[in-house]
Amino acid sequence: MPSTGLLTSPVLTRPRRRLPRPVPPFSHETLASYLRRLQIANGLPADRTGANLGIKPGDDIAVILGALTGRPADALRFALPQLRTDDRRIAPLLRGEPTHTHSACQLCCRRAGIAQDVRRWVTHDEVICLHHRHWLGSPLDEATQQLDLAGHPDVLAAWRRHRNLITRRGRTAVHDVYETSARIVSDWHHQNRSLPAVTARLDSLRAGRPCTYLDPLVHAARYPTAVALTALLTSPHWRHLAFNADDTRVRHFLQRVADTVTNGYYPTGGQDPLRHHLNNGVPAQRVLPRPGAPLAQSAST
Ligand SMILES: [Zn+2]
Repeated sequence: MPSTGLLTSPVLTRPRRRLPRPVPPFSHETLASYLRRLQIANGLPADRTGANLGIKPGDDIAVILGALTGRPADALRFALPQLRTDDRRIAPLLRGEPTHTHSACQLCCRRAGIAQDVRRWVTHDEVICLHHRHWLGSPLDEATQQLDLAGHPDVLAAWRRHRNLITRRGRTAVHDVYETSARIVSDWHHQNRSLPAVTARLDSLRAGRPCTYLDPLVHAARYPTAVALTALLTSPHWRHLAFNADDTRVRHFLQRVADTVTNGYYPTGGQDPLRHHLNNGVPAQRVLPRPGAPLAQSAST
């Protein structure tokens, strides 16, 4: 731990004067991430609560950070969702309700002169930095490694389709169905069901190197398939056929899945995750591989 006069000063244990390096917050940054960066930039040991900056429980953190950085408290509340008022009226431009956190695009951070990892609040569809064409990791999958998507226009096209679905069907509906769809596609993959598009995409992304089930490129490879299934399950027409007592209509829906989602695989059997979802209204109980388990050869070749 570095020894600094700042820590032992009775004034600076609860400072109110401007810090020498008042680094700006990143858009939608988590409070813990910003406090950590602010403390490190000013030679203070990092902690999640801002105690080293003189912040105590019950303080108005936006006001204190405003005094420390010279930034308007409302500007800080806009950048840092956790500082917003409960009714969030102060942040009308936030895209949807952020529900997860993950690392900001490393290239965007580098361009902003930030060397440390920045954690951001994100909505479920913020999986790509379109500016840099980088896969940031699905918040649902807790991925951390980022990927260059140059040469993978299908993943970028899926992201645009995902955004269009949100515009047409509503964010909440798409979020719920996407979670289910991503889980079904993941389970198909774990069960080694034939998903040739996922296999081809994965082979292209991994470029010969070994990977595990938790590797972010596995999630990127499944993403377009999950979005395609989301498109069907949020369509009123196809949803009506999918959840229908008439088997003929259900088979019509499943054939549509084979034609437009799975490249020919027709969901078959009670253990199929999609069939289970249609029959029970909830995804099947998951049996996942060990986190570090290598990807099965049959799922990647
Ligand atoms: Zn970026």
